Amino acid sequence: MDEPEPSAEQQIKQRLLLHVCCGPCSTASIERLREKYDVTGFFSNSNIAPEPEYWRRLAEAERFAKEMAIPFVVDAYSHEDWLECIKGYEGEPEGGARCERCFAFSLSHAAAYAREHGFDFYTTTLSISPHKDSTTIFRVGREMGPFLDVDLKKQDGFRRSLELSREYDLYRQDYCGCEFSLAESRQ
Ligand code: SF4
Repeated sequence: MDEPEPSAEQQIKQRLLLHVCCGPCSTASIERLREKYDVTGFFSNSNIAPEPEYWRRLAEAERFAKEMAIPFVVDAYSHEDWLECIKGYEGEPEGGARCERCFAFSLSHAAAYAREHGFDFYTTTLSISPHKDSTTIFRVGREMGPFLDVDLKKQDGFRRSLELSREYDLYRQDYCGCEFSLAESRQ
């Protein structure tokens, strides 16, 4: 007797490590990616300051991952190391050279984790933001490891993230993450 064709559920999905920058950005990203991949969230955001803001964003991202029933890994928080990485670029405007170094810091952690734990690819929720340049994110991501170029702001991703954030009553911050972006947002 011929073996039956495996159902869609039985087919093994490729393992994707998703760098999660915050709960709201993770919403539509997880919804879209888990249709095709076996997704694990990876929270690595040493850029966030002050520290209570870090814990608040982490709690919200973790809560949403639980709602979606996906595994969720939390990287160490080391804002001192992050400050060292962007040293000399503190005064750059948002979207400039400081941000590129910031992406590289977080994505290098995600790439290393993906490699060490047998993931097929990694990618990031950062590309869902209309304020962030996906071309730069993709270039930096590829330099770090097996990066999946998926522009999450496409297919109405950002709008859907707003919708889901409202539905799940997620905290939505009003600045990007670091103390420099916080100061810029308060000007
Ligand atoms: S503005 Fe955002 S992306 Fe740029 S350095 Fe600060 S936290 Fe990183």
